[in-house]
Amino acid sequence: MPKETQRPRRVSSGGGRAGFQRTPSAPRVRKGTVRISAEIASHLRAGHPYLFREALGARPLREPAGEIIDILDDAGSFVARGMYDPDGVVAVRVVTRDEGEAIDSAALLRRVSAARRLRQSLLPESGMTAYRVFHGEGDLLPGVTVDRYGQHLVVHLFSPAIEPLRDGLYDALEATYQPRAIYEQRRYKPLAGEGPRGPATLARGEVAPVEIEVEEHGLKFLVDVTAPLGTGLFPDLREGRRAVAERATGRRVLNLFSYTGAFSVWAARGGATEVVSVDLAAKAHARARRNLQLNGLPEKGHELIAGDAFPVLAKMAERGRKFDLLVLDPPSFSQAKGRVFSVQKDYRELVQAALSVSASGALLACVSNTMKVSAEELDRAIGEAAFRARRIVRVVERRGLPPDFPVPAGYLEGHYLKFFLCAVA
Ligand code: SAH
Repeated sequence: MPKETQRPRRVSSGGGRAGFQRTPSAPRVRKGTVRISAEIASHLRAGHPYLFREALGARPLREPAGEIIDILDDAGSFVARGMYDPDGVVAVRVVTRDEGEAIDSAALLRRVSAARRLRQSLLPESGMTAYRVFHGEGDLLPGVTVDRYGQHLVVHLFSPAIEPLRDGLYDALEATYQPRAIYEQRRYKPLAGEGPRGPATLARGEVAPVEIEVEEHGLKFLVDVTAPLGTGLFPDLREGRRAVAERATGRRVLNLFSYTGAFSVWAARGGATEVVSVDLAAKAHARARRNLQLNGLPEKGHELIAGDAFPVLAKMAERGRKFDLLVLDPPSFSQAKGRVFSVQKDYRELVQAALSVSASGALLACVSNTMKVSAEELDRAIGEAAFRARRIVRVVERRGLPPDFPVPAGYLEGHYLKFFLCAVA
């Protein structure tokens, strides 16, 4: 593991915050700087965390992954400092806009502590042990996320640029949370490989049990912190689950792509008269069943169907089955047929199929959690489906990321999670 990258820094002319490391007498080293246009500088100054490779134009950088780069505007003034990534579409991830701040272990500890204070001020004090403790760019260190599941932390590393900071980050996490273990997943190529994602690996602490019980607003869920694709609970969808619970009373609920049944558990808690969960994976249903039991929710009135959502919907429509609250949260990549789920076509067809089993007055929750799908595209897909199904569909509520997923102002596309609650006439 390369040592933390650092070079002597010039003292900033401004005041700066106390505690930043400064090396007043050291000369400025010109290596590792890049000049950008005034236009791009204004975006970065307004909070955008990424300098894209295409913005470098004909001035490619040749630094190794993780090298600290100073970004200057066309007049040579300091804009931001970040980490270099030689591979991806993002060339530099911005870590600081303070010229006097070094990117070192003290900075990492400040970031992790500040992130913790933010959660403490915004999340409930009890009944909440599954949430994001560190959200990359939103906590001023793009390229890494950290989720808490009980006494365990799960880190996702999205860029080789973060590797030189990895040990310092884990030290800061251990000092701040004293976790039983830190598990990590590399989400970039080529280290992560081209094949399917492997299980998370133990980076610090002791091996975790196969199942850990966590709480979300007092509801209990079982998770596996080592699982390759998901632990069993996606913390980013929490506000959507709450929206479903708030509207579930007296409704017949259909949860498509139900996975471990998180929406189903919330719907049952919210007073649904009937909950039907549909997922290709029977294994996911086993976890869903246990999640229901864990919360003392009756299994009676809960149906688990293992199958492809489309034929299941077709069969239900054929039999005239109707629901009053439907949740559509398809994967962005459909592994079932080995093809990419295209929102333009597949989402539209999915909504159309869901409308065929929607009672008049039903609510339809449409979810997309990929940045590749904009809110506009999702909205359009729903609208086109409504036209084809000859139904009137209106968006009555939109929810997004919970507060433990802060998004910097100036970075609108960072709101990757879309949750549209629609009223169906
Ligand atoms: N809605 C879930 C997360 C969905 S993850 C939650 O709230 O936690 C995506 C799920 O879709 C996986 O469990 C996967 O098994 C399932 N899936 C993928 N393709 C499917 C298909 N064609 N029909 C039904 N389920 C599918």
